[in-house]
Amino acid sequence: MAFLARHAESAAQTSLPGPPCTLSASAGATTVSLVWSPPTAGGPVSSYVIEAGSQPGGTNLANLDTGTTATRFDATSVSAGTYYIRVRAKGPAGVGAPSNEVGILLGASCSTAPTAPRSLVSSVNGSTVTLSWSPPASGVATSYVLEAGSSSGTANLAAFDTGSIGTTYSTTVGTGAFFVRVKARNGCATSAPSNEAAVTSGVLPALFSVNYDAAISAGDRILIEQAAALAQRYFAAVFRRSIAQPVTIRVFADRSGGAEYQHVVYLWTGNWAILGSFGRAKIVIHELFHVLQEEVGFPDDSAWLFEGAAEWVGYRAQTDTGAIPYGPVKDCQIRGVTGATLSAIPLSAFENWTTFSATGGSYTLASLGVDAAVGDRGALALSGLWNARSDWRSAFASAFGTSTTAFYDAFERTRRSWPTTQTSACVY
Ligand SMILES: [Zn+2]
Repeated sequence: MAFLARHAESAAQTSLPGPPCTLSASAGATTVSLVWSPPTAGGPVSSYVIEAGSQPGGTNLANLDTGTTATRFDATSVSAGTYYIRVRAKGPAGVGAPSNEVGILLGASCSTAPTAPRSLVSSVNGSTVTLSWSPPASGVATSYVLEAGSSSGTANLAAFDTGSIGTTYSTTVGTGAFFVRVKARNGCATSAPSNEAAVTSGVLPALFSVNYDAAISAGDRILIEQAAALAQRYFAAVFRRSIAQPVTIRVFADRSGGAEYQHVVYLWTGNWAILGSFGRAKIVIHELFHVLQEEVGFPDDSAWLFEGAAEWVGYRAQTDTGAIPYGPVKDCQIRGVTGATLSAIPLSAFENWTTFSATGGSYTLASLGVDAAVGDRGALALSGLWNARSDWRSAFASAFGTSTTAFYDAFERTRRSWPTTQTSACVY
């Protein structure tokens, strides 16, 4: 026991201090005051190290040890300029991780607003929304202003300064669909807004209030029309575009019903019968998304991209509406495409419609491909492919930030890391 106790004590002494918390800065004409809280984790603290740079993360302007455990630091006669500042705790084991970073602007070093923040994207996990963006291309932001509104361009729900130069922001929100943009602020002025992100949070749970478990027969309409009306609201919230023309839903007993979409969604009761309510909701949204694809000119040169987008939106809608998290669905999808036959065929081969139609599991693989292409950009990234029939590879590169060649390389590497056995039951 004595040995164990001594060992534990020695471990505590050698661990680095954790990051200091809640660093804030206030600036006068030539003075800067920094205040922070001690680390809440890690080893003991003997002093603090203050780092300052002219760019985020930089240390070119200051890198000094305060020599005390005081959690305030005052600097005088500071030159005009932009400073990005963070503080680290120092202990016997060394210097720990940095606090949050603050940006300050001293003196007349700005004369105009920064340019707008760029590439705002949102992701939703349950009721938590995370926004991230890139700093202005020109000028320096010392904080950001977030605006949220219930319709595009409005700020009726929120407008506040984050008080930070951080380019991500997370918050918990209620059920709803809203539109967000971010502006950069410096000591002089506030920039124009970034691009706008459409955010849906736990929205439209009624999408799945339709009784999908009800049996349908050839000729039935009512059940599917209810679902279509709700799916329309989902499209409007996520893609800011719903299907313009009325959609007719027809249910057929077999596949001889004709075309799959073009403002008529044909459902085959043979498929319907083997699906649970999750799969049924997915299939309705898949088919309705095809209608939207037709209206917006989504490229159909690549079978996997065209079908995969519809399939992926069908799955994602269930995450976005809070019906089921995507993680288990994706795990199940991955375990569904690891058979020897499918594994031997690269995703690129599924650009070909004949190959796509003839190969089992192609829809699931295509959905995973779209998931990889969209990455953390959010579903709205798919709208980058709209009106892109003539040159879908260029549209793909601009929507997803990668060439199809580079994307295929990365995707095939990812496929090789997938587990090769199904380890638990699928959720649908
Ligand atoms: Zn389809």
